[in-house]
Amino acid sequence: MTSVAVIGSGFGGLALAIRLQSAGIATTLIEARDKPGGRAYVFEDAGFTFDAGPTVITDPSSLEELFALSGRKLADYVELLPVAPFYRLMWEDGFVFDYSNDQKLLDDQIRAKNPRDVEGYQKFFEFSQHVFREGYLKLGHEAFLDFRTMLKAAPQMMRYEAFRSVYAMVARHIKDPQLRQAFSFHSLLVGGNPFKTSSIYALIHALEKEWGVWFPRGGTHALVRGMVKLFEDLGGTVRIGSKVETITAAGGRVTGVRTADGWSGAFDAVASNGDIVHTYKELLADHPRGQAMGKSLAKRSFSPSLFVVYFGLKSERPDVKHHTILFGERYKELMDDIYHGPLADDFSLYLHHPTATDPALAPPGHSGFYVLSPVPHRGNFTGDWDAVAPAYAEKILAALERRVLPGLKRDLVTMRAFTPKDFSTELGAHLGSAFSLEPVLWQSAYFRTHNRDDVLKNLYFVGAGTHPGAGIPGVVGSAKATAGLMLADLLPAQANAA
Ligand SMILES: Cc1cc2nc3c(=O)[nH]c(=O)nc-3n(C[C@H](O)[C@H](O)[C@H](O)COP(=O)(O)OP(=O)(O)OC[C@H]3O[C@@H](n4cnc5c(N)ncnc54)[C@H](O)[C@@H]3O)c2cc1C
Repeated sequence: MTSVAVIGSGFGGLALAIRLQSAGIATTLIEARDKPGGRAYVFEDAGFTFDAGPTVITDPSSLEELFALSGRKLADYVELLPVAPFYRLMWEDGFVFDYSNDQKLLDDQIRAKNPRDVEGYQKFFEFSQHVFREGYLKLGHEAFLDFRTMLKAAPQMMRYEAFRSVYAMVARHIKDPQLRQAFSFHSLLVGGNPFKTSSIYALIHALEKEWGVWFPRGGTHALVRGMVKLFEDLGGTVRIGSKVETITAAGGRVTGVRTADGWSGAFDAVASNGDIVHTYKELLADHPRGQAMGKSLAKRSFSPSLFVVYFGLKSERPDVKHHTILFGERYKELMDDIYHGPLADDFSLYLHHPTATDPALAPPGHSGFYVLSPVPHRGNFTGDWDAVAPAYAEKILAALERRVLPGLKRDLVTMRAFTPKDFSTELGAHLGSAFSLEPVLWQSAYFRTHNRDDVLKNLYFVGAGTHPGAGIPGVVGSAKATAGLMLADLLPAQANAA
């Protein structure tokens, strides 16, 4: 029977493992950390359950598809709860905007802010829907292995002016400065600077409106556990707490993996969901391809990092929505600092309040949160995060106390920070980047890491560093692209062997 190793159990690795196992390929999923999920890690502290990473679950249909491959139902494994509004957006001057898929509510708020922007918003929404159909539905799970595929997509990209930024496209239609922020910040959720990321990323608005924003009962990790269970129900093998040290290779092919705990396995193919630079530079350190690609990738532009503080309060906060974005005074200038350094004194924050949707994630009468601040990656801010973290966390919590959580310090029962340094050490992320390669046009599709290596023909990639990029819908789409290649490459061999 054909056998495959998938290194890493992020959403991309899990989705790929499920697709391969569903197709009858004996798949072993190998994860370095003590729990599956990658950036979607979870930890418990003082009775609180803290999801470490993704919290905004969009495009549930891409997840349902994974279960349907074997005639199963996502709903039998995990319950998705709707979140409304999608986000509450708040500014320093007191302006509040509830971003939702209730069109009337959206229009009324836009009209109240700037009546002339209602029509502009409609035009922007139409643009977003077009790009969503062409860019996401048609190309979101295409493997761009050669330049011809890219050329085929080029007319559409010109038509949608992919060379312009998300912000430029929003600003063409919407005039109010705060509304411009409200409809352009989304690319940050996948590591993209709204002022630099291709206008194609404006599709996120239509994607959210099409399928809604969801949160799994029990937290994001309940979805991870559901996917692991599906994989195991299908007969897949999971090795947790086992770090791959080497991908073995002979000539032009990879032959298997060796782990730090002394285990090794021979496989017909290997797919890496680990960081792309880590995979080439460290796991293939002894192979010329690993050295060459490691060097070339390290020269590319990586997304910023994140500073995250998880905290629990001994009070409930019914007036704080599940997802809140707190904009700072600066927008473009702050983006410049986040993408180039230095570490700014001010910030824009995303506040996660999971107990707004699922109170069981905290003890009765308590509420759980995390707050994240996008910060430069470790190439652009070389300061010592161990030294910086306590004061930076303190400053962020003080801003939250002032703007949205009065009495925060009084009610604080637990807190823990995750810094760019932790992204490097815990996840092997190059420069501590939270989203891998920066999503800019010249690093997208064909120009991103190919889902199959060009030289080692049975080495594959899946996850944020590959096409289409970061975010759960992105990496689950990358798994579809990679699985398509792997099944086409491997199943003929299986048929011959049988
Ligand atoms: C704080 C935060 C919030 C986010 N919020 C959202 C959100 O709300 N919605 C959304 O859609 N996206 C969000 N994202 C982005 C999203 O989480 C990621 O893009 C996505 O989860 C990455 O998945 P991945 O498949 O690339 O794998 P990763 O999550 O990067 O996992 C890779 C796995 O590979 C393992 N690994 C690496 N090297 C080895 C090795 N040598 N041996 C064994 N295992 C190895 C790692 O331990 C890790 O578990 C967020 C990200 C962060 C950090």
